[in-house]
Amino acid sequence: MATPTNSSQPRIALVGTGGTIAGAGRPSDAGASAAYQSAVVSTSDLLAGVPGLAALARLQAEQLFQIDSADFTDTRLLQLARRVAELCARDDVDGVVVAHGTDTMEESAYFLHLTVRSGKPIVLTGSMRPGTALAADGPANLLHAVAVAAHPSSSGRGVLVVMNEQIHSARDVAKVHSMRLDAFASPHGALGLVVEGAPRWYRALTRPHTMQSEFDIGAIDALPLVGVVSSHGNMRRESYDAWVAVGARAIVHAGFGGGTVPEYLKPVFRELCARGTHIVRCSRVGAGPVIRNASFDDDACGSVVADDQNPPRARLLAALALTLTQEAAGLQAVFDRY
Ligand code: ASP
Repeated sequence: MATPTNSSQPRIALVGTGGTIAGAGRPSDAGASAAYQSAVVSTSDLLAGVPGLAALARLQAEQLFQIDSADFTDTRLLQLARRVAELCARDDVDGVVVAHGTDTMEESAYFLHLTVRSGKPIVLTGSMRPGTALAADGPANLLHAVAVAAHPSSSGRGVLVVMNEQIHSARDVAKVHSMRLDAFASPHGALGLVVEGAPRWYRALTRPHTMQSEFDIGAIDALPLVGVVSSHGNMRRESYDAWVAVGARAIVHAGFGGGTVPEYLKPVFRELCARGTHIVRCSRVGAGPVIRNASFDDDACGSVVADDQNPPRARLLAALALTLTQEAAGLQAVFDRY
């Protein structure tokens, strides 16, 4: 669907993928925010429900998926990245907004951030409540996402997540609450805010992305399999062995605190690394770096540390790094750089 507006406006492509922003509940459930079905409202109907969009941009909407974001597989992630890259390469597109479920938004955003070679604004947004809820957040989030994607100051900042009036970097943002409207946070702070319908910036990223990234969706056919094992008391080596059995080339260990490894798993990690499965240590805490050779001898084991990346993003970065190198030192260099 294209909206008729004036020809000097930025042209924004909206890619719908489903999620709660495309969700609906029964009108009688308007006071509730958890009883609804996600991924049922079409992308063009979403646009039609947001007054003010036509004043910001010329919009083209398309429906790539209509799914709960829990159903994003690597195959769908690659499809999304290819489509966003195609749109960004077009002369008649100035920016892209992806409407996405919030549950895995941070993963899709990060993957686009690392693999789409474009300086044009790419913004993901979603909502915590369906459009039928009394205080639905989707319309304002969509309006703000388009405002950010259409603004010239948003170029070259990497992929952005706009939720609840905040602009986050895809490198840092995570969903940190299952229900509240302020469900997204970045450990080092948001990059900016949406104020009076325009982005206002307070920070910039120092790590490479999009145009400076060495990954390119145009050259990636499939992602190597990488598993994640989260820490808890009384762990079992079988969790790791199961990933090896299905062919994982690396396992992300979402460790306690600073990526701590229980004594009883240390020999298991050394054995797995010696047999050719990479171990990437990160933290289950959700913020703060894991330091190489602190609390575990990574040099002796041949393991890798994920700096401050959370477990789902560490999985994606490890998979991308494995498209370039099979060496632990090479993987470590990628984690140190990004
Ligand atoms: N389960 C939904 C999804 O991620 C949640 C949401 O969008 O807020 O698709």
